[in-house]
Amino acid sequence: MAKIAIVTGASRGIGRSIAKRLAADGFAVIVNYAGNSVAAEETVGEIRKADGEALAIKADVANPAEVKQLFDKTIEAYGRVDVVVNNAGIMPLSPIAKGDIEAFDKVIATNLRGTFLIFAQAAQHVAEGGRIIAFSSSVLAKSFPTYGPYIASKAGVEGLVPVLANELRGRNITVNAIAPGPTGTDLFLTGKTPEQIAQLSKLAPLERLGQPEDIANVVSFLAGPDGSWVNAQILRANGGFA
Ligand code: NAP
Repeated sequence: MAKIAIVTGASRGIGRSIAKRLAADGFAVIVNYAGNSVAAEETVGEIRKADGEALAIKADVANPAEVKQLFDKTIEAYGRVDVVVNNAGIMPLSPIAKGDIEAFDKVIATNLRGTFLIFAQAAQHVAEGGRIIAFSSSVLAKSFPTYGPYIASKAGVEGLVPVLANELRGRNITVNAIAPGPTGTDLFLTGKTPEQIAQLSKLAPLERLGQPEDIANVVSFLAGPDGSWVNAQILRANGGFA
């Protein structure tokens, strides 16, 4: 029987690449999204076209009832959960001096509360030998102006990872996070000038922007047999953007 993976935020960007890669690796994949059903169905269509198995399920990761439904529907459809990738995230930028509490609350709700809620359901449902993978960001090390609320949310995610790994002792389940550097998706590209994009792309010694597939490769490693000894880690996949 195929193993089952839930990928949150899989309608676009890095999440879509992760869903396609895990389907190619042999997982039946739940393609979660927040509102963009057309894009989510595109992801599902691309997976099915390549003879993979996928199902789109809408759920806001910040909403406890919707997150519970996401897992309930997955188990209803496939009977089990083996891998959970909480990739869903947003990145509103605002200087701290502006005191934009709405942006702060929204990014904390999606990125940190969302990770907490997905972790809670994953801890209850992931089968023995399973994998739980969260998303941080390599921008934590940069402390760039305007990234305060986003960095605060991802610092919280990095705090949760080793705690859940400890709480799952004895079940042979790993818990890790991936912290990408700048990656060519809507989240990174929107609102930046071509000059800003070029400058940020050159910061890594490998001198290019990450592509969603670069990150999907790392998820595939952590979710597959070769990743079984990596636990309670934050993997900085960023071309050396330190
Ligand atoms: P993206 O292209 O903007 O895609 C975001 C995805 O998350 C979409 O599928 C979106 O669904 C979904 N989403 C947003 N809010 C959600 C919610 N409340 N509930 C469920 N799904 C939600 O972003 P990305 O660049 O692929 O980012 C993926 C992850 O990598 C994020 O955690 C981000 O912080 C992290 N990351 C990205 C970069 C980068 O440079 N791109 C760098 C470091 C870390 P809809 O289509 O329905 O809106």
